[in-house]
Amino acid sequence: MDRYGPYLREMGLVRWRFGSQHPDMAGLRSDRETLFRDEGANAGRLTALAREADRCERCELHRTRTKVVFGSGSLAVSWLFVGEAPGAEEDKQGLPFVGRAGALLRSMLISIGLSREDVYIANVLKCRPPSNRDPLGQEVRECSPFLHRQIDLVQPEIIVAMGRFAAQVLLDSNESLGQLRGRPHNFGETLIPLVVTYHPAYLLRSPTAKSNTWEDLLLARSVLA
Ligand code: SF4
Repeated sequence: MDRYGPYLREMGLVRWRFGSQHPDMAGLRSDRETLFRDEGANAGRLTALAREADRCERCELHRTRTKVVFGSGSLAVSWLFVGEAPGAEEDKQGLPFVGRAGALLRSMLISIGLSREDVYIANVLKCRPPSNRDPLGQEVRECSPFLHRQIDLVQPEIIVAMGRFAAQVLLDSNESLGQLRGRPHNFGETLIPLVVTYHPAYLLRSPTAKSNTWEDLLLARSVLA
C-alpha cells in the first residue's frame, strides 16, 4: 500500500496510485522545491496585519465572533487556498479549516502531493457569520482589504478559490461555480493564476464531487508548472 492510498480513497479516487504511474505526478516534489522563496520582511508585515484584524470592528461580525480567523501558513509557499468564512470550530480555535472540512482539505492536499505546511490558507471573511449564514455585501466590502493585503504579502504563484462565494469575490464575477470551474483565471491586476473548485464543506455533503475537485487541483498544478 503506498502512503497516499488512504488520502486518495478519502478523495474518492481509486483510479490512480500516486507516483510514477500517473503522468501528472512526475517531478512534483522537485517542482515545488524550486519554488520556495525568501519571504523577507513580508512576514513582519503579515503579523502586523493579523494583529490589525484581531482588533477589527469594521463590521457587525466583531460582536458575535469568538476569535478572528486571519489565516495560516508560511510565506515560503506557492499555493494560496481561499475559502468563504470561518465556521463554528474555526471561530473557537482561531484557525482556518479545522474539524471535518479541514481534515478533508488535508486529504485534498495530500492527493496532489502537498501538505498543509506547503500552502497558505485563508478565508474571505475573517470572522464567523452567525449560524454560518451567507456573508453580507457590506461585510465583504469591509473585510476584503485584509485578504487583498494578505495576497500581496504571501505572493502566491497560484490561488485556489474554494466554493462559489470565494470564487465570485476573488474574480469579481456573478458566474456560477459550474461556469467558473474547469478553466484557469487570473486574479486582479497581479494576474496571479486562479483555479476554482468546490469547498470541502460542500464535498462532505456531496462526496461525488470529490473526483471533480481532484481534476481541479491537477489543473491548478499544471497551471503552476
Ligand atoms: S469580518 Fe472582517 S471586517 Fe468584519 S469585524 Fe471581522 S475582520 Fe473586521
